[in-house]
Amino acid sequence: MLVIHHPDQALHDPDRALRRGMLMEAPDRAERYHILLRAARDDGHTEEIAPMGSADPILAVHDPEYVEFLRTLYQRWRATPDCGEYAVPDSHPTHRMRRKPTDLRGELGWYCNSTGCPVAADTWTAVNASAQVAVHGARRLIEGASSVYALCRPPGHHVYPDLMSGSCFLNNASIAAQLLTTRFEKVALVDIDVHHGNGSQHIFYSRSDVLFCSIHVDPSVAPPFYAGFADEVGEGSGKGCNINLPLPRGTGNVAWLLALETALSKVEQFGAQVVVVSLGLDAGQHDPNAIFQISDDGFFEAGRRFAELRRPTVLVQEGGYLSPYLGGYLKSFLRGFENTTRRG
Ligand code: ZN
Repeated sequence: MLVIHHPDQALHDPDRALRRGMLMEAPDRAERYHILLRAARDDGHTEEIAPMGSADPILAVHDPEYVEFLRTLYQRWRATPDCGEYAVPDSHPTHRMRRKPTDLRGELGWYCNSTGCPVAADTWTAVNASAQVAVHGARRLIEGASSVYALCRPPGHHVYPDLMSGSCFLNNASIAAQLLTTRFEKVALVDIDVHHGNGSQHIFYSRSDVLFCSIHVDPSVAPPFYAGFADEVGEGSGKGCNINLPLPRGTGNVAWLLALETALSKVEQFGAQVVVVSLGLDAGQHDPNAIFQISDDGFFEAGRRFAELRRPTVLVQEGGYLSPYLGGYLKSFLRGFENTTRRG
């Protein structure tokens, strides 16, 4: 497996975030990058540092004003009196408010829907590197590679074209999927992170060339709360190209893999020529989120089944948080994937 990453991804390392009314350790620490890279190295995968290319593939998904805001946010934040170490919004427009403000704090609340995206001095450098890792992964597939693991961190699947959310700043998997549409007519984006990929769903909701399929915890009991229900099926020419498979808390290997079978049969029916996987590992039984009960064997089997699609595949890292088991989950998935590829 070709593993793509960039050391700048570790430059974003917020140590705390406000969650459930408490100041807690931020879930997306830079240590995740080091753990996942070490796991890939342990298993002897080939690695490549992504080149830092142009912003064009990012701008094919994201609003240019949002990208410019994110790029320059911290500089403006530090120039504002009485602001803290991290740029975090404390005011948000709701569904009743539609006027975009010009004040920095108001603008930050416009572009960020939670306290889960603390921005510091090197955040842009890190999130741009993470997106470029996805871009390079997609390019490798376009050049003929059969499979690539894009070690994207910070993750991305909660981000809308102009809205950061849930530890995510740029939608890496969607950037990869969009780039792949320049070479392939039909692209499948399958999201197995324990949380619904609401940003990715939104980006492709009215598209018939990208199938979005997500297996995740029922959003009525967990973030992202406002999207991810089974009746969200796409709109316009994209109707039928959005498939949500929500599962209850505590779901284990059997039900999860059954849902994956459903998802992968949809990928086959759709006629996808290439697959992007939003590879969240936070469905793991020992993940700090403690939502699903997926074991190493479950991840191995998931990897095996994705490889059985026999289509060029880019695995884009999403969630999966700090525990002694995180590296093992990645190893299991990649071993399952490679096992099938080698035998095939
Ligand atoms: Zn997640």
